[in-house]
Amino acid sequence: MKPQLIFLGAPGSGKGTQAARVVTQLGYEHLSTGDLLRKEIKSGSELGKKVTAIMDAGNLVDDLTMIELLKANCDLDGKNYIFDGYPRNKDQSQVLDNEFLKGVASKAIYFDIDLDLLAERLINRRTCGDCGEIYNLKSKPPAKAGVCDKCGGSNLQQRKDDNEETVKTRLGVFRDTIEPVLAHYKAQDRLVRVDASKESDAVFKQIKQAID
Ligand SMILES: [Zn+2]
Repeated sequence: MKPQLIFLGAPGSGKGTQAARVVTQLGYEHLSTGDLLRKEIKSGSELGKKVTAIMDAGNLVDDLTMIELLKANCDLDGKNYIFDGYPRNKDQSQVLDNEFLKGVASKAIYFDIDLDLLAERLINRRTCGDCGEIYNLKSKPPAKAGVCDKCGGSNLQQRKDDNEETVKTRLGVFRDTIEPVLAHYKAQDRLVRVDASKESDAVFKQIKQAID
């Protein structure tokens, strides 16, 4: 049995791209707690009703309810999962260990990237509003400024939350909360840092090595 994987990384670190590869090439299931919540609510189960009540009251779903949700939807003995988006802080990583994983082999994969470099990437990111192609004004600019190479549209946009101030705030918050999470996994020798500044293939290779 391969280890369960916990993906940790800043927004824009390439975590999503790699998750997709691990799913298609290594047979893992991608576990997004957001998707699970939506699915449970839609199913109309007792748990789904409980979640709806919490959210309708404007509250965040608490950790133990999140664990209930995982228990209802995961088969740790039979399947391999990538936990993505949870845990987000040290408390959650402890709850996940104590209430759910309970000694099941698992590794935390940290998509290690210089956060200042990442900020620059995000600030320079532009997306084609017509076809969704993604550009970077520095590393992957369109051949003709402002025009999409793929569809020829001239609708390259910067996402609202990619402006410099928002990006820097977002990454600052990330930096502060991730350090204790990394320390938690490192103390148990379950932390694997992959160099997320490398090309996608090289990053994938590092993940594969961590699994074997
Ligand atoms: Zn386009």
